[in-house]
Amino acid sequence: MSVPITETLARPATTARGWAAASPTVPLAPYSFERRPLGPFDVRIEILHCGVCHSDLHTVRNEWSQTFGQTLYPCVPGHEIVGRVAEIGSAVEDFAVGDRAGVGCLVDSCRECDACAEELEQYCEGEAGPIGTYSSVEPQTGRPTAGGYSSQIVVDEHFALRISERVDLAATAPLLCAGITVFSPLRHHGVGPGSRVGVVGLGGLGHMAVKLASAMGAEVTLFTTSPGKTADASALGADSVVVVSREAPAAGGDLDLVIDTVSASHDLDPYLGALKRDGALVLVGIPAVPHPSPGVAPLLGRRSLTGSSIGGLAETQEMLDFCAEHGVVAEIEPIAIDQINEAYERMLAGDVRFRFVIDMSTLRTP
Ligand code: NAP
Ligand code: ZN
Ligand code: ZN
Repeated sequence: MSVPITETLARPATTARGWAAASPTVPLAPYSFERRPLGPFDVRIEILHCGVCHSDLHTVRNEWSQTFGQTLYPCVPGHEIVGRVAEIGSAVEDFAVGDRAGVGCLVDSCRECDACAEELEQYCEGEAGPIGTYSSVEPQTGRPTAGGYSSQIVVDEHFALRISERVDLAATAPLLCAGITVFSPLRHHGVGPGSRVGVVGLGGLGHMAVKLASAMGAEVTLFTTSPGKTADASALGADSVVVVSREAPAAGGDLDLVIDTVSASHDLDPYLGALKRDGALVLVGIPAVPHPSPGVAPLLGRRSLTGSSIGGLAETQEMLDFCAEHGVVAEIEPIAIDQINEAYERMLAGDVRFRFVIDMSTLRTP
């Protein structure tokens, strides 16, 4: 669709309030910055809630410098964004002012490569690769992208998700990253009734994996290092719970698929050993320090070791619609924005059941 260029020039940039880290070693603090002027295909979303992902913490502390490159500072994290559309560009077709909308981990991609053509924008093969919601370079401005710990975001409508009016909005926020990151490999590996699925770690991603695998009809085994989470795991849908030691996790079972959500480096062999022949261990946790290389012996059972990155926009929408249909939301602890630094420490200590979600109205009240 052709849109007069004067239109993009007519819209002013807007000022967002947020919280940012200025460097890897300082706490997050209040920070104001500009959102780009609304383009014809853009929507501006007033952010109402934003989930707190362990990736926010890894990025803010520059723990992934060896994995994905240096964090861009100031860093405004947050990629589990939900809110309401406050303004739309003239060519926007799928959103109207007042609609609920969400933004996950992606805000752009090349839209031309094979991955983008297959609606797998998370694997974009374009020169810039997938553009993350924070700590990427925004193609339109050349500035670092800034995430959801903020009052508003401007995003191309292709990268905005539709959210039902019927669901609990705050508890839906974590689906935008934690939900899709586990939904995608569950779908890719064909999980359904009769599948046996293992989940390693009962944090933000892990608890969504238990809920989603269970909603897909699978039999779910949770591996946790926290004996105190056993009852919660059962309530979330786990059929069995194996308490493992961080040093020497126990193997056992005859699983088709294991999804490993652990945020720290650990021995993978016991989880490969927990698979049946042709089963797959899917790594989604991204520790700062790599896991030790697995042994050959467990792989000789024709088991696969693989990984998975978030999900494309179409699949994220499919996941949101699946969750709305099956009544799946995250278990959340709402926090105010000024509790974010404490929340990071609690997340590191495993003290969250199971996702912190920032109430963005607390940005507006001094
Ligand atoms: P989280 O809420 O902190 O959960 C991580 C869980 O891992 C903890 O609850 C704990 O579960 C377990 N754990 C932590 N430290 C451990 C250790 N030293 N040894 C064994 N288990 C440990 O984190 P999250 O937000 O779910 O994120 C998990 C990981 O996935 C992070 O690395 C994050 O960056 C990554 N991630 C990846 C993608 C992707 O696209 N692949 C997307 C989002 C997030 P128990 O107490 O039950 O043992
Ligand atoms: Zn995340
Ligand atoms: Zn692409």
